[in-house]
Amino acid sequence: MAKKPKIGMYWASSCGGCEIALVNLHERILDIDANFDFAFCPCLLDTKKKDIDAMPDGDIAITFFNGAIRNEENKEMAQLLRKKSGVLIAFGSCSSEGCIPALSNLHSMEETLKTVYLENPTIDNPACIIPRPETDMPEGKLHIPAFFDRVKTLRDVVDVDYSIPGCPPEPHQIWNVVDLVIQGGPLPPKGSVIGAGSSAVCDECERKKEDKKIKRFYRTYEIVPDSEKCLLEQGIVCMGIATRDGCGALCPKVNMPCTGCYGTPEGVFDQGAKMVAALGSVLDLGNTKSLSEDEIERRIDKLIGSVPDYAGVFYKYSLAASILKGRSR
Ligand code: SF4
Ligand code: SF4
Ligand code: SF4
Repeated sequence: MAKKPKIGMYWASSCGGCEIALVNLHERILDIDANFDFAFCPCLLDTKKKDIDAMPDGDIAITFFNGAIRNEENKEMAQLLRKKSGVLIAFGSCSSEGCIPALSNLHSMEETLKTVYLENPTIDNPACIIPRPETDMPEGKLHIPAFFDRVKTLRDVVDVDYSIPGCPPEPHQIWNVVDLVIQGGPLPPKGSVIGAGSSAVCDECERKKEDKKIKRFYRTYEIVPDSEKCLLEQGIVCMGIATRDGCGALCPKVNMPCTGCYGTPEGVFDQGAKMVAALGSVLDLGNTKSLSEDEIERRIDKLIGSVPDYAGVFYKYSLAASILKGRSR
């Protein structure tokens, strides 16, 4: 029997949701099994790093790499899997753009470790121990992977062939990608975003869009929105304008705003900047003709001030891949 090509999936700094998305292919997992050998997938198989080390370079036809690059081990595995894979795909938002783990880029490494190991209300750490890459013990030196100052994307550390957006990617979109490979391609140009559309979530959202004019912003718990009207027009920050389509506008369908997990639409470089620019054109400041510059500025500040946590709203998924990348120090 002819040997099947190998497929792999690895989790770096990840929540495990991307693996669940793969399992959500349901019976199509059997189609993957019929066409590929699972070479490496820590959540499904007990394969060790030494097994990957022993493979010839390029031996794994496709690797889905999910999770961000948070520490030395994540980087080492990214470099190893790059070498051993024909096609390396950044799978999901963490790997493509840093996602929620990258919000810690707003703080230094020291601040993050202090919060997690010393200030976390659920931790019992009376000796105030903070992990270090090397610790001298009576038995010898202990090593753990060094924690990076910033969360990085997969593309920041290795050459990436494609990325599949989403937190996590939608199963039907994962299948579209796998099926394309099974059918023999042709694959899109290197560097493309695959398993998604190229436009914005607003284009696949069926809510009624009229003239957007926003007098104030609301958090989702503050109002019960009209279930047919555009959420942004009702004052809820919906990131649909600045987010790639492909999920089927899932969140607006259930009366929740899009928070931006599919990343930037084609041609947009910075998701947060795009959203801020879009909001700038829909603020309703009232009649400004007779107002002084100071008063206009005050009204803008008041209106924008009703958006809580700018970074968490505008860069919830994309901070590591944005122009800012994090807090400048
Ligand atoms: S992209 Fe979302 S689902 Fe996937 S690992 Fe990151 S946080 Fe989890
Ligand atoms: S802003 Fe949100 S609710 Fe409005 S059309 Fe776009 S995706 Fe739909
Ligand atoms: S609507 Fe937005 S946040 Fe919700 S799944 Fe789609 S892209 Fe992600």
